[in-house]
Amino acid sequence: STADAENKVYNVGVDNTYPPFEFTQEGQLVGIDVDLINAIAKDQGFNINIEQMDFSGIIPAMQAGMLDIGMGGMSITDKRKETVDFSDPYFAAGVSLVVADDNQNITSLSDLSDKKVVVKNGTVGASFADKNTEEYGYSIIQVSDSASMFQEVTNGTADALMEDYPVISYAIATGGLELKTVGERLTGDDYGISVLKDKNDELLNMINDGLANLKESGEYDKIMNTYLD
Ligand code: GLN
Repeated sequence: STADAENKVYNVGVDNTYPPFEFTQEGQLVGIDVDLINAIAKDQGFNINIEQMDFSGIIPAMQAGMLDIGMGGMSITDKRKETVDFSDPYFAAGVSLVVADDNQNITSLSDLSDKKVVVKNGTVGASFADKNTEEYGYSIIQVSDSASMFQEVTNGTADALMEDYPVISYAIATGGLELKTVGERLTGDDYGISVLKDKNDELLNMINDGLANLKESGEYDKIMNTYLD
């Protein structure tokens, strides 16, 4: 890394709370994203400051110059590539349909006619829901964080939600949430670490080099195993 990079503190935006990628445990911000970016920064010799925010605010905050790096279980999409550059992929994910665990009526998208589907603003799940609302005949409720989205279904305000399967599986396994995934996965994508497009080649190279080093040293696997079985 250059002298420039050594003096600078890069601001990293992550989601408010998105276990197992970012969440607070015993007063500490932890999770796969948090551990990964800390390990990359250490490996490459740069400093970071991590900020939590609504997921939909991360790319706008990068565009406003308030953040240098965007994370938050952020999927690599063509749409986002219009404004940001992504690192090499670091995690495979995709969206699942989720209902209350005692719901017997909804087993796939075809059962959503006249139902209410809750999604989180600015996510792949939200765009998927948007694209398919006419075909399947459901209405959409938008919220800004995953916890509220889960609650809308557990309290019966909404019939179903769309969330990344690693996140909903972790929430069900660790949070005792009365929810279940149904049907086929709706999408498949990979998470990447983002920087503002065309302006951060040096930073992006450091991120990719750090990620490759962590994969080679076993540190990447160690981080994954900390949070996943
Ligand atoms: N992976 C999804 C996306 O990029 C959801 C991310 C999130 O909710 N933090 O849109």
